[in-house]
Amino acid sequence: MSFKKPSARPLQHHLSSYFITVSAMRRDGWVVMARCRACHLDAWVCLSTVIRLNGPDVQLFGRTTRCRRYGCQGRMIFMATPPGAQHGQFWPLLRPQEPKDGSTPLS
Ligand SMILES: [Zn+2]
Repeated sequence: MSFKKPSARPLQHHLSSYFITVSAMRRDGWVVMARCRACHLDAWVCLSTVIRLNGPDVQLFGRTTRCRRYGCQGRMIFMATPPGAQHGQFWPLLRPQEPKDGSTPLS
């Protein structure tokens, strides 16, 4: 098997790489955001900050985080543009057959 640059790999490959770490996402050029399920706030996610706060081996697929809007009790899911994908389009980072509220909180 030969090496393929991350930007040359198909979208489905990226969206099923559930165990990729945040440091690998940063290295490969993923663009990550978080969206609140309650108030629909979209927020940029700085992978360098995530690495600094949670370590380089954290995985974002299937994770949630608290909403950053003042007073909102909602949870945010992570969405991303994989390397080589259309800029500005974000896909949710979900694990397959996940129970509805069984996601693991990140913070
Ligand atoms: Zn919210």
